[in-house]
Amino acid sequence: MLKLSKSVIGIEEINAVTKVLENEYLGMGENVKEFEDLLSAHFNTPAICVNTGTSAIHLALQAIGVGYGDEILVQSLTYVATFQAISATGAIPISCDVYPNSITIDLEDAKSKITSKTKAILPVHYGGGVGDLNAVYEFAKFHNIRVIEDAAHAFGTIYKNKLIGSFGDICCFSFDGIKNITSGEGGAILTNDINVIKKIKDARLLGVKKDTENRFAGKRSWEFDVEFQGWRFHMSNIMAAIGVEQLKKFQYFKEKRQNIAKLYQKQFKDNPNIKILNHNYDDIVPHIFTIQVVESKRNDLKKILEEENIPTGFHYYPNHLLTKFKIDNISLKVTEKLQHELITLPLHPDLKQEDILFITSKIINYLR
Ligand SMILES: *Cc1c(COP(=O)(O)O)cnc(C)c1O
Repeated sequence: MLKLSKSVIGIEEINAVTKVLENEYLGMGENVKEFEDLLSAHFNTPAICVNTGTSAIHLALQAIGVGYGDEILVQSLTYVATFQAISATGAIPISCDVYPNSITIDLEDAKSKITSKTKAILPVHYGGGVGDLNAVYEFAKFHNIRVIEDAAHAFGTIYKNKLIGSFGDICCFSFDGIKNITSGEGGAILTNDINVIKKIKDARLLGVKKDTENRFAGKRSWEFDVEFQGWRFHMSNIMAAIGVEQLKKFQYFKEKRQNIAKLYQKQFKDNPNIKILNHNYDDIVPHIFTIQVVESKRNDLKKILEEENIPTGFHYYPNHLLTKFKIDNISLKVTEKLQHELITLPLHPDLKQEDILFITSKIINYLR
C-alpha cells in the first residue's frame, strides 16, 4: 500500500533523540534553543518554537491582542486547526471564499465581511502556494489590520524571491508528522515584531515571566510573576532534536517534493478531465498535491484508487459547514464547489517516479 503522506525519518533523528534521552532532560532546554537559533538563521527572522502549528496560530493571535468578540478573516477551506486556533482566543473566524485558481482567500469576499471588530486576516498557504500574497498585505494595510500567515503547508516556499517566513507580519509553521519538515509534533512563529516574540516566549510557558531565558540557561524559575493567560505550549528537547535533523535534510525533502509535483503536473498537463493548480514548483514546496475532477466522478475515483492501494484525501471539509463555525445564511460558492471536486494524491519524499506514473495512469484511465 502506498501512503498519502508520511514522516521520513533516518538514523540521524534516531541518534539525536537517543542523545536527548541519555541526557535525561527531555523538556524545553538546549535542543529547543538550538532549533530556534537554526530556524532564525534559516529565515533571517526571529523564530519561537511551540508544541503544534495550531498553538503557533493561537499564540500569534493572542500576542497581537486578539480576544473575545474580535473577528478574523480566514478562508473556510482549511484544516479545522486554523479555525480552532482562532476560536481558542475567543475570537470569531469569519469564513471567506477562495479564488478557484489558487485556493487562497478571496479578497473581494473578505472585504465585504470587514467590520469594526475585524482585527486580522489569516491567509492559508494552501498546498504550499500563497496566491497573490502582496495583495493580502495591501488589503491589510488599507484596512489597518494585522496579517497572520498559516504557512503550515508552505515551509520552504519562495514568493517573489523571498522565503515565506522571512518577511511580512507574522508567519506560523507546523512541524507535525507529515509536514514539509517534522519535529514529531511542533510548530513555530516567525516575526520581526519583538513585542510579539517577547509575549509568546512567556505565553508558551504558562505566562511565567522570563521562563524561556531561565530554561535555556539550564535553570528554573522559582519566584516569578504572571501577567496574562498562558499555556503549556512549549516544545520539548525530544521534538527539537528531531526538528534540527529534519532541517538539515530540508534541501533533499524540498527537491523530492518539487520533483513529484512537477511529474504530476507533466502527466496531467492539457488533460481535459483534470484541472491542476498552475503552480511553479521551482518556487513552491508542496505539502499536498490536489487535482480537481467532475463532482460525479470524484468519490468513485477515490474508491477505484483505493482498490489499487492508492490512498487519497479530501482537503478540506469546509469549516463554515461545521456545527461550531456555522454562520447563518452564508454560502461560499467556490468553496462549496471545490469541496466536491478536489482530491488529494500521495505526496511524500519516499515516493518513486514509478509510483507517480502508476498513480497518474490509473487516474487518467478512469477519467477518460
Ligand atoms: C497542519 C495544519 C495546521 C496545524 O498544525 P498542527 O501542527 O497539526 O497543529 C494548521 N493549518 C493547516 C492548514 C494545516 O495543514
